[in-house]
Amino acid sequence: MIDVELGPIRPPSEHQSLLLRLTRGCSWNRCFFCGLYKGMRFSVRSTEEVIGDIKKYAAYYGERASFFKSCFLQDGDAFNIPAKDLLSILHTLKKYFPALQAVTTYARCDSILKKTETELQALCEVGLNHLYRGIETGSDTILQKINKGITAEQIVKSGLAAKKAGMTLSEFTLLGIGGKSLSEENAIETAK
Ligand code: SF4
Repeated sequence: MIDVELGPIRPPSEHQSLLLRLTRGCSWNRCFFCGLYKGMRFSVRSTEEVIGDIKKYAAYYGERASFFKSCFLQDGDAFNIPAKDLLSILHTLKKYFPALQAVTTYARCDSILKKTETELQALCEVGLNHLYRGIETGSDTILQKINKGITAEQIVKSGLAAKKAGMTLSEFTLLGIGGKSLSEENAIETAK
């Protein structure tokens, strides 16, 4: 057993990734449909603590550290933390796990928009090159109804900013989230 702190979930495609917890819970935690972190108060782990976990992982895995090609940063929105802290964590990851080809995380659109173009590029260059986003729908009416806290315009703007920086985006949409009455609007606006 390695004495590191872990969050409750990761995307299914990250089953072979090193898991590194930067935050506890979700900074927003108000989407009506989501119960993932409902009982959890959002907090940010100190950079020193996270770097401590990287070193514990490295000591435990030794030469097997090169097995890891990807690392997933937990929890709900690790991208929310300041760029300088993310950068220092990413530099340490790169030092102890040089074989990593991808560092990934969940990222809310507003967290992406808080970063400058230069910061996004710097984060991507040091390895954070893949973001997962729950955009859910392209309809502003539905986004408001589910209390997502973002607009369709923010989804597009933040997505383009991440892509411009060189990041890959994996987006989640909820096909039935508009119910029967807003089904057509959901389909059309999300396709847009
Ligand atoms: S932003 Fe994501 S993790 Fe946070 S409450 Fe909404 S769906 Fe859940």
